[in-house]
Amino acid sequence: MRIIAVNNNYKNRLGQLAAANPKGRKSMKMVDDSAKYGEIDYYPYSMNSVQFTGKFADTYPKYWLKNLLKLNLPCPCCGKQMIPLDEVKALPAAGLFSASCLTAVNTLEQFEDYMKPVEYSIMQIIKPLAQKYPGIDLQELIILLSFEYESSLVAAQLTILNRLKTLAPEVEEENRQELLDITKTAKEFILKKRSTKFKRKIFLGDIEEYTAKIENKETREKILTLAEKMPTSEDSVSAFIMKYKDRSPEEIGERLLMYSAATLEHITPDSENGEVTIWECQRCNNTRSNAPVIRQINENPNMLDNLRNHIQIIVDRAVFIKNHGGTQQSQKLLDYAKAIRDEYLTNIKKYKNIAVKIEDEALKKLQFEEIPISGEIKEEIE
Ligand SMILES: [Zn+2]
Repeated sequence: MRIIAVNNNYKNRLGQLAAANPKGRKSMKMVDDSAKYGEIDYYPYSMNSVQFTGKFADTYPKYWLKNLLKLNLPCPCCGKQMIPLDEVKALPAAGLFSASCLTAVNTLEQFEDYMKPVEYSIMQIIKPLAQKYPGIDLQELIILLSFEYESSLVAAQLTILNRLKTLAPEVEEENRQELLDITKTAKEFILKKRSTKFKRKIFLGDIEEYTAKIENKETREKILTLAEKMPTSEDSVSAFIMKYKDRSPEEIGERLLMYSAATLEHITPDSENGEVTIWECQRCNNTRSNAPVIRQINENPNMLDNLRNHIQIIVDRAVFIKNHGGTQQSQKLLDYAKAIRDEYLTNIKKYKNIAVKIEDEALKKLQFEEIPISGEIKEEIE
């Protein structure tokens, strides 16, 4: 049901886009044969540059890339399906989250399958409550829950602080007391003995600064790893509830969907002048930041399979379009699929020496009959 809604919205938006750009349409000499392709109607002005000109964004402008989202692509990293960002933004703008919690929850429910684990769990908790208390709004619903969930968050936080304390004997004597002081202060914030709220980010900053002084690498890593387990709204239902109880209904609704939104990710980081972009969910995009793709693949064991699925869908659509007579549009899709696949392989190649296993696996998994791997890339990897 949701897919239809998205596709229709997409059609409307792209229709408006085409109407707003009649010049682009008219200037093309090619015949608009898009009607033949059923639901995927690439606009004729997206057909003009089949050759890859070198400037990725000129060849594949954003409106062309947006069209790809109609294929319901999975995130190449986590494999979850993505929601177009416009779609996410349109919901609070339409007032759907600020109305009664029942309206908000019914709206959100359509996107349930796209949600990340914590967001999905929150939905399972709020659905029956919204039925029970339809007269309150989404924020009030989260506030209601906060009475119940605060204790489990505090318990989890205190447990981590106590475990940190037990590491003190492993630290050199002159740095021992500071670790005890940091945990003590953190407890005071958590237990509301101080006037402001406990902030995980500040706590982690203090820990990081502190561990820089520790000589033993193993101990340093242990402390950092443990401190990072401090719950966040990204991995803990109770942390989510306690954080978002102070936010507006619009913010809460949007946040439940935001990490599932499709964002354009530079395969080679922006900071290294990467041009080639792929749709990736907001969460994976954030997590990766500017790290090399090799690290992303390392941290996500299913990534090469998910990436393969992502590319396969584009290739399949190209074949479908070709079978319906759209040779040039089909070729452009294949060129794009090849561009993203080769960009990953080129990046993997850079780290040849440290990731032999990934190289082999990538070469095996990212083979497609329709977009052969160029000899150059293959040779350098093998
Ligand atoms: Zn993802």
